[in-house]
Amino acid sequence: MKSCIACGMPMTQIADYPLYDISKNYCKYCAHADGSMKNFEEKLDCLTKHYINFHKMDHIIAKQTAYVVLKKLPAWKRK
Ligand SMILES: [Zn+2]
Repeated sequence: MKSCIACGMPMTQIADYPLYDISKNYCKYCAHADGSMKNFEEKLDCLTKHYINFHKMDHIIAKQTAYVVLKKLPAWKRK
């Protein structure tokens, strides 16, 4: 089983892959509608909003947390 290089989500089903393409190493949430991978800024923005909505975090804290979490993942380690 693979996990997404861009968000860490385990990809257990074909439906978790972008356009059902299991050769990809990132999940559908990290892909654009055309199947290409989102960039760091897009993921940072998306995760920041998620923390604000679901954990009621302050915007600054949410963004810092999202940054730290994303930087641990293989897709963003060296940028
Ligand atoms: Zn992902």
